[in-house]
Amino acid sequence: AKNENQKETIFDKIISKQIPADIIFEDDKCLAFNDVNPQAPVHFLVIPKKRIPKLDDSTDADTNLLGHVLLTAKNLAQKKLPNGYRLVINNGSDGCQSVYHLHVHILGGRQMKWPPG
Ligand code: 5GP
Repeated sequence: AKNENQKETIFDKIISKQIPADIIFEDDKCLAFNDVNPQAPVHFLVIPKKRIPKLDDSTDADTNLLGHVLLTAKNLAQKKLPNGYRLVINNGSDGCQSVYHLHVHILGGRQMKWPPG
């Protein structure tokens, strides 16, 4: 039986184009699309196509994939947000994670605050 943590999420349906998303970049390993409920003027997500539920579940075998996701986020953010931006990875319940498919949030287009609360 599949582990609870390996269930398909809505992001798998976005990857497979079963449900639409505003996709801004795609390659064989990752997908970037605008967040449906933006928390900043620019708010998009970069996700690995591989189903890793949360950062906690990543391993050394994912080193290249995680690097690729992070560099993809940087390449897209750098173009859209020359004045800076923020990356966020929510992990687990205290981290406010709601979709259990690893994703990096990229937020910008306004002055961000720190600490985020
Ligand atoms: P989390 O809280 O898990 O870090 O973030 C999940 C993010 O996914 C949220 O910002 C939420 O708005 C976004 N999201 C959830 N469902 C969908 C969807 O169906 N389409 C898009 N584009 N974003 C989604």
